[in-house]
Amino acid sequence: MVKWLILILAGYVLYRLFANDFNKKKKESKQENAAETERKVAAGELVKDPECGAYVAVDSSISVRDGETVHRFCSYECRDKFLQRLQEGGRELPPREE
Ligand SMILES: [Zn+2]
Repeated sequence: MVKWLILILAGYVLYRLFANDFNKKKKESKQENAAETERKVAAGELVKDPECGAYVAVDSSISVRDGETVHRFCSYECRDKFLQRLQEGGRELPPREE
């Protein structure tokens, strides 16, 4: 009977060890992704969508030129919302695809 208890306990300890390890790995990869995103932003490979705040790749994004600045968006929906906001603010920019 005691044998069974020890087995169950050992199994539980092992389970906890693996569970902890798994959670730790998940957390680490999340931090790596954040660091990778930061690196790409610093390198100019990623830019922030001014409408929803998502990061978009410079070479595969929907963009609108605003004078010297180019705003990039994750979707046409975000671009349209952004243009709408500009219009409401009394400014208008022609949509421009690249
Ligand atoms: Zn967006």
